[in-house]
Formats: sequence, structure tokens, C-alpha cells
Amino acid sequence: MVEIKNLHKYFGNLQVLKGIHIRVEEGQVVCMIGSSGSGKSTLLRCINFLERKNEGEIWIDGKQIMGKGKEINAIRQKVGMVFQRFNLFPHMTALENVMEGPLTVKKQEKDIAKKKALALLEKVGLSDKANQYPAMLSGGQQQRVAIARTLAMEPKVVLFDEPTSALDPELVGEVLAVMKDLAKEGMTMIIVTHEMRFAKDVSDQVIFLHEGIIAEQGTPKDIFENPQHERLKAFLGQIH
Ligand code: ATP
Ligand code: MG
Repeated sequence: MVEIKNLHKYFGNLQVLKGIHIRVEEGQVVCMIGSSGSGKSTLLRCINFLERKNEGEIWIDGKQIMGKGKEINAIRQKVGMVFQRFNLFPHMTALENVMEGPLTVKKQEKDIAKKKALALLEKVGLSDKANQYPAMLSGGQQQRVAIARTLAMEPKVVLFDEPTSALDPELVGEVLAVMKDLAKEGMTMIIVTHEMRFAKDVSDQVIFLHEGIIAEQGTPKDIFENPQHERLKAFLGQIH
């Protein structure tokens, strides 16, 4: 579903990604962990072309993405992204936020977009909040709307960049529960997270990024129960 080959990314003289290889099969959940500044966000942003890679190949759904003109819009539809900050439109209700992409980008009919948006709000447990504005919702609820909004575009893969780090601790669980459901349904996902228990539970593969290199990669069991790399051991030690 997603294949990344020899990805390099520089910001000026700073080399942030130094030859990344990742292969994510359809329906797989990959969690990416690593300390601050290791390049996790940059990697996700390169995958959906919010950042331009300097070198390497990005393959999505069997096609190499070169990132030219129209192709970028197509790729943003196929590759959804959920950020730490939810960035909902403040002047739109939850329902309108979820309908926005299908209406403007996909040119869906309003009735159809609405029906789908309501179903998605139900899926994330927010049927009763459809007509609320973001300011009236808790952080966890806003993030769940943001997830519904991403799903409304019917992406093939969803990238999550620390979707729970901006939330109060008591709101983290409800967002992780929605993500767990998605994983169970077979959604292909790449998730940057500091929630190690969640990563252990849902991942098919865990990637430990260190200074722009995949220092270790394996099943949750490999990574959490039998870490090899000194840096990974230190990293896990800090978190627990
Ligand atoms: P965190 O856990 O704090 O989110 P991260 O692993 O996501 O960290 P990145 O945000 O990918 O790390 O940043 C990797 C490196 O690239 C850092 O040194 C950062 O300062 C640098 N960097 C990121 N974005 C830019 C940019 N737009 N311009 C210049 N440098 C950048
Ligand atoms: Mg980051």
C-alpha cells in the first residue's frame, strides 16, 4: 500500500531523513516512535507531500508519486492526515466540517455528503454533537471530528501525527479507542505516537526512528520486549 525507498530530506544543511525504507501492506498499522527531532513528523509530511523529499521514492497504492501538479491533490485524497492540533474550521459545525472536503474537493451532492458525514460522526461516537461548533467541543471530541473529516475523503491510508499529545490525559482514551476501531476494520495507518501501550496493542510493525535513521524495526514484541539498540532501550526507559 505504501512503500518508501531510500528517502532523504534536508532542511538547508540539516539532514533530517537519511535513507528511510518502509513498506506498509494494506490493512497494516505501523507505529513510529522516537525522540523529539528524530524526523517523525518530517517523514509523515514527506509521504503526503506537505514537504518535498530531496531523494528517494514514494509509492502509494502501486504507483510512484512524483508530486507534480494535479497529482498532489489526488494524493492528499488517498493519504489522509490527522494532526496533533485538530485545525477544524471554527465557523462550521462538526457536521459541516466533515462535509466540507467531500463537497468542495469531491463535488459530492449535499444529501449524500450529509448522510455519509452523519454516519462518520456516529462511528466516532459524536452523533449528538453534529450541530455543535468546535469551540463547544472538548479536545477529544474535536479530534474525533477531525478523524471523521479525514475519513470522509475515503483515504486509502491515514497518517496520524501525535493525535493525542495535545489532549488532557482524561481525553486521550476516547481518541485512541476510535483509532483502535479503525485498525480493527482494516484501515491502513501510520501513526506517530508516544502512547506505548497503544502502539503495543495495535501495531503490526513498530519503527524506532533515531536521528533520521530507522534504528530498529519489528513487531511490538521485538521492539518493546526485546529492544536491541542502546538508543531504543534508553528511549523506552525514559517513557516507562
Ligand atoms: P517531535 O517529537 O518533537 O514532534 P519529530 O521527530 O517529529 O519531533 P521533526 O519535526 O520531523 O521531528 O523534525 C526533525 C528535525 O527537522 C528537527 O531538527 C527540526 O528542527 C527540523 N525541522 C523540521 N521542520 C523544519 C523546517 N520546516 N525547517 C527547518 N528545520 C525543520
Ligand atoms: Mg513531530
